[in-house]
Amino acid sequence: MIMFAEVAFPISSYCQFTYKIPKEFIDSLQVGTRVKAPLGNRMVTGIVVNKSAKSDFKGKHKQIKELVDHQPVMDKKLWKLVTWMSKYYFTPIGQVVKTVLPSNLSAKYTPPTTSIISFKTWGDDYKQFQKKSPAQAKVLKHLSTQKGAIPISSLKNLVSNPSAISKTLFEKDLVDLDEVTNLPDITGFTFSKIHKEIKFTDEQQLAIDDLSTKLNSGKFSPTLLHGVTGSGKTEIYIELVRQALEQNKSAILLLPEISLTPQIAGRFRAVFDEQVALWHSKLSHAARAWTWKKICSGEFNVVIGARSAIFAPIKNIGVIIIDEEQENSFKQDSPEPRYHARDIALMRGKLHKAVVLMSSATPSLDSYYNYVQGKYDYIQLNDRFGGAPYPQVYVVDMIKEQEETGKFQQVISSMLQQKMERKFAKGEQVILLQNRRGFAPIMRCGDCGHVETCVQCEIALTYHSYKRMLKCHFCGFETGDITTACQKCSSINIKLLGVGTQKVEDIIADIFSNIKVARIDYDTTRKITSMTNVLEQFSAGKIDVLIGTQMIAKGLDFDNATLVGIVNGDTGLFLPDFRSGEKVFQLIYQAAGRSGRRKSGEVVIQTYNPDNPVLKHAAKLDQKTYYNIALSERRELQYAPFSWMIRIEIEGAKKEHVNTTAEIICSKLRPSPKGIIILGPANCYRERLRSKYRMHIILKSNKTYDINGNKMHKYLQKRISAKLFDKIPSGVKAFIDVNPVSVL
Ligand code: ADP
Ligand code: ZN
Ligand code: ZN
Repeated sequence: MIMFAEVAFPISSYCQFTYKIPKEFIDSLQVGTRVKAPLGNRMVTGIVVNKSAKSDFKGKHKQIKELVDHQPVMDKKLWKLVTWMSKYYFTPIGQVVKTVLPSNLSAKYTPPTTSIISFKTWGDDYKQFQKKSPAQAKVLKHLSTQKGAIPISSLKNLVSNPSAISKTLFEKDLVDLDEVTNLPDITGFTFSKIHKEIKFTDEQQLAIDDLSTKLNSGKFSPTLLHGVTGSGKTEIYIELVRQALEQNKSAILLLPEISLTPQIAGRFRAVFDEQVALWHSKLSHAARAWTWKKICSGEFNVVIGARSAIFAPIKNIGVIIIDEEQENSFKQDSPEPRYHARDIALMRGKLHKAVVLMSSATPSLDSYYNYVQGKYDYIQLNDRFGGAPYPQVYVVDMIKEQEETGKFQQVISSMLQQKMERKFAKGEQVILLQNRRGFAPIMRCGDCGHVETCVQCEIALTYHSYKRMLKCHFCGFETGDITTACQKCSSINIKLLGVGTQKVEDIIADIFSNIKVARIDYDTTRKITSMTNVLEQFSAGKIDVLIGTQMIAKGLDFDNATLVGIVNGDTGLFLPDFRSGEKVFQLIYQAAGRSGRRKSGEVVIQTYNPDNPVLKHAAKLDQKTYYNIALSERRELQYAPFSWMIRIEIEGAKKEHVNTTAEIICSKLRPSPKGIIILGPANCYRERLRSKYRMHIILKSNKTYDINGNKMHKYLQKRISAKLFDKIPSGVKAFIDVNPVSVL
């Protein structure tokens, strides 16, 4: 019998190709298997998406050349997810596969091993042994005090030749030796195992009982866990995962940025040990490939990672947990598909009939609304564990402050300064949030107002004092060529405006002597180890003030940090995006949660807009009121979560081309069916990024008439099939962004 295979290639074409399957492969080739096949005059690796006895292709069939794997690299359910993504995100299957699979699955990797040693017996006569072989006896005694096996290398401090001694002890049958595989990890803090004795509170136990029932029911159960910071959400994840494993099910835990939440990974390692695989962008390609295959063969039951961990080829999923579910880092911006890991988690959870737990102290308005609508179950945790009260919040009106002190552009108000002094006097620690990197965001001419901008993005360059550089935070453009005169009017009256983390660091160092300051932001933490180092030192009390961007606002748990200062609560408030208020609210609320996890804490918010509803309600830690205000605004403007939104972005190097392309696409979209609104085309807020001009068209479809978004999807798919994107000039590209998280 002749069999055909449809193969999808990771290219941006919408087509799949059909090949004849050579006889010898007919049995081993399955859907999900990677193959090599001729495409044009090259051999390209693709993935089999269909196998059948028929082919619709009328020309002469080429043959599959070889099998890359002898078993599928994804199972049927994962394959189903891929095909769903392809449709949902209007992205070719090959392109989705490229996102889902590690880039080089064939890379060879052998994880390193560690030799370990453990105590077995004292032997017949330890006293005699001690006399004759004191070094060996010393090691044996040390081992007897250890809980289990320890690395031989750790004996270095005890004796000069640990390997030889270990070997001798083994020959005498006094110890056991073994080799353990070192799992591909990032090093440091992350994996210091944290062991805890837990007795759940009543509130926690109720939450767990509810979740167990859902897990046992074997039904898809999307649930929002809304719990204040420190209420024990992480302990609940651990318990839920433990129960899933007991039923031979597996679990995925998604974290916004694994390097920022090392403590959580450490807590999971402490409980589940070797069953946990970490999925991390900082792992090498080879280590990722190795991990993927081990997961395929069932060697790990728990996968922890950032957004792409949602694709881990784990089988029989019982729970998927999304920690800090409101975080934008769960959304992938490029390359396509522009997916949101929360949406994927929900679909995967549906396929596996799993519990999908979306968790946060500050849920996204979208999830909150889904709970209000009855689409998600809801579990609330109101109490911080140990009864630590929520911090006392103070708002400083910076305009009044200016009037009173006569000092303009003050960075640290007198109240914040005083409170810091008092904390230092008590030996307590302070966290300062300044959600902007660098020294001063912009250099502006004091005479003509000219601002130095990036040549590629037309966005103000940020001054970094450390290297004396100007940097673009979008494209990475850097220049050390800092002129002392204005480019436009040659005035030398150049001013640094605005305040970044570096500037705050300098100011703090100026105000307080004998105080240790450290800074965490994207610039200082490209290396994970330097990040974990700072956190460890802060945790150990070796640093008094930790300054950082939003990176420090969540997940971290420090006993002795009792004051959080929000240097500029207004950052981001006025960005022209429908989610900007929500984001600022969440950030302030989260940052406040860092204060006084054990002892009672304080928060100082500095703002020029104390009457703004975001600031006002954040200061009262009044989530409900703010969420309701925000929801009614969204409803009025018909933004998400009241409408399904799709953004079509058009970008290219030539402005006219982008403009005409956007106009043409827009005219092909019109007229739209009733209930679907088309906005644009308009210039994006960031009109030029990475040397490309950007315009967008926004589609909105009211959920009242389009309950699950099918109507909008069908309409857009129809227009795409009717050549919506045909004849786009070369150099111009159109992207589809389904459920955009921002419209900047
Ligand atoms: P969240 O994830 O909600 O911020 P955590 O799970 O990190 O909260 O809990 C805050 C702290 O309280 C952690 O150190 C945690 O181990 C501890 N904790 C929470 N619940 C309990 C409990 N029932 N028994 C002992 N310690 C607990
Ligand atoms: Zn000038
Ligand atoms: Zn740039």
